[in-house]
Amino acid sequence: MTDLARNLEKVRHHLDRFTAEGVLNRIAGAAVPAASGASFETRSPVDGACLAQVARSGAEDVDAAARAARDAFPDWRDMPGAKRKALLHRIADAIEARAEEIALVECMDTGQALRFMSKAALRGADNFRFFADQAPTARDGQSLFAPGQINVTSRTPIGPVGVITPWNTPFMLSTWKIAPALAAGCTVVHKPAEFSPLTASLLVEIAEEAGLPPGVWNTVHGFGEDAGRALTEHHEIRAVSFVGESRTGSMIMAQGAPTLKRVHFELGGKNPVIVFADADLERAVDAAVFMIYSLNGERCTSSSRLLVERSIHDEFTARVAERAARIPVGHPLDPDTVIGPLIHPEHEKKVLAYFETAKAEGATIATGGTKPTGEGLEAGCYVTPTLFTGARNDMAIAQEEIFGPVLTAIPFEDEEEALKLANDVPYGLAGYLWTSDLTRALRFSDAMEAGMIWVNAPNVRHLPTPFGGMKASGIGRDGGDWSFDFYMETKNVSFATGEDRIPRLGG
Ligand code: NAD
Repeated sequence: MTDLARNLEKVRHHLDRFTAEGVLNRIAGAAVPAASGASFETRSPVDGACLAQVARSGAEDVDAAARAARDAFPDWRDMPGAKRKALLHRIADAIEARAEEIALVECMDTGQALRFMSKAALRGADNFRFFADQAPTARDGQSLFAPGQINVTSRTPIGPVGVITPWNTPFMLSTWKIAPALAAGCTVVHKPAEFSPLTASLLVEIAEEAGLPPGVWNTVHGFGEDAGRALTEHHEIRAVSFVGESRTGSMIMAQGAPTLKRVHFELGGKNPVIVFADADLERAVDAAVFMIYSLNGERCTSSSRLLVERSIHDEFTARVAERAARIPVGHPLDPDTVIGPLIHPEHEKKVLAYFETAKAEGATIATGGTKPTGEGLEAGCYVTPTLFTGARNDMAIAQEEIFGPVLTAIPFEDEEEALKLANDVPYGLAGYLWTSDLTRALRFSDAMEAGMIWVNAPNVRHLPTPFGGMKASGIGRDGGDWSFDFYMETKNVSFATGEDRIPRLGG
């Protein structure tokens, strides 16, 4: 039996349950269908097969979930941090125990390759552990002295919060947003993406089996325009943490305005990898290839623009093209696969349309630019890893987030032009800089408009560091203590230390 056949057999067992029971909401500890009884199909991007019927929730379901989160809030807020820490570690243990199931199901629901999803499931557990350890000190503050007064700050959880997540790596991203909310003492209503709802449903089930009290975490499935919208508009929801497209972020901001919602946005990107001629080119090729062709290129921090110093441009892009052409495209459960099918036929259509745009704009397709052929590939949303060369920064393929395994290369003459190209996009999420000149690295990274920059490295996350973007890529930061700043209110209490004269008015 091949590894693929073995994995297919295993996942069938896990998926059968979803096929039989459907994907239900989780409200106040109970698995429930949408109040209206409505549902929608979720289909696998591998072959279009229906995986399950999913609750299609509306305002009534969101209201029930928000009220459950409100009712559960006081006890959860007041639970000692050490107890919350122990509980969140138990959730991490339970994720690890079911990591294989999570990874296999995630692959079938999203099309992401198993080699990446098995790590993503474990990263979900790491996220819980990291924020669990912070729970006992999350409320701590500072003391600030002034003549005649001592100020004491403290933090308190903001209340029930909404978390809205995208489809690309749904399990890991959900843990990244929900673990800090719970550690801070907030209760949660989660609205997962409609294209990949399965592992969000496993996640909340795992948390409750690990002992999370009912109502602390509620999951409501459905479409953005109804369930998502209702969540952002709900008066009991104090804040919305959102990961998704920039234009959805802007809609959410408008929807949340009447209830003065606090928002945290992690949005799109068009991230440059900038390669100077003095860089370690072996490592730079590895990183450039990895950062666009891993995770199907459906990754907010993918390096989708390759800016290369002209003297090495042709050689460098030839090497990237050669490597891209050899990347295995195939079934996500095949351990050899690097690129699986894109999430959905609609998204596949969008990515394929950029191949035509590139030609119309006068760029060259150095490799890829097609739908792959071969056994099983026609039925899925597959596209070949693609490199565009001969592009200009004002082309749509250099400005717009394609969100697929598609890289646009542009040459630059000198540092000044490289910086101009790097910054000349609406986004400012991440950047990758390759040079052996330390002074240039400092100067360039200081001037780059991006929330996260890696110098001589691909994206390697360190959880205490801030994560987030500038410009159209987001508002706010996650990670370390930054997550708690979002999920908590900071309070200052000022104590008088003397009896300074108070102006006596009217006396
Ligand atoms: P999307 O914006 O279409 O959807 C994201 C979520 O928002 C889904 O759950 C959807 O149902 C919901 N939604 C849609 N309309 C809504 C509305 N009016 N009100 C409330 N909720 C609504 O994004 P997507 O296509 O699922 O994901 C891909 C995008 O996510 C890309 O742009 C990618 O860059 C971005 N992303 C960003 C990060 C980051 O950290 N910056 C990480 C991953 C993905």
